[in-house]
Amino acid sequence: MTELKNKLKFIADQEEYTPEPKKRTWHYTQKPYEYEMTCDKCNGNNIEWSEYEGKIWCYDCKIDTKGTEGVFSGPIPIQCAAILGMRFDRWDMVNKQVLTYDDEKKEYVPRSTHFSMYKQLVNKIKQLRDGVKGNGMLPGDDEEKIIEASDEIFEKLSGDEKAEALKYADKILNEKTT
Ligand SMILES: [Zn+2]
Repeated sequence: MTELKNKLKFIADQEEYTPEPKKRTWHYTQKPYEYEMTCDKCNGNNIEWSEYEGKIWCYDCKIDTKGTEGVFSGPIPIQCAAILGMRFDRWDMVNKQVLTYDDEKKEYVPRSTHFSMYKQLVNKIKQLRDGVKGNGMLPGDDEEKIIEASDEIFEKLSGDEKAEALKYADKILNEKTT
């Protein structure tokens, strides 16, 4: 009887001390320190996403640990985070693709092709302004039409993508032509 009890206790202890660590299926595309997370053991920020869910890897301590919460300790105002250069895109490790949060669907979805279409249109506007012909430019292309098309695409982007799209357009259109 005592033996059985001990055996059960042993099993319980085992389960308590070696919980099956779950492997991650995704991690944020940005590094943990960019979300102001640190190692909860040494307080350093020489850290990376651990291969295990809910953990970070500390290069200094050489351990997988839960880390501090950083910006995740409170509700995150997305627009504010975007201004600070913080994004919450996820890298889907299973399907090897970037996932972005869809405001309408309220879930993470593969990053839309709309975003790359938007970028192409912005580049076209820039080319037109610079008077560059060729590069897939059609005779009937005029700036107004392309801007209209890009506005239409813009509306289809997710909130996170919109913030990045604006940054992209700002950078491209204000670039000095050499
Ligand atoms: Zn550490």
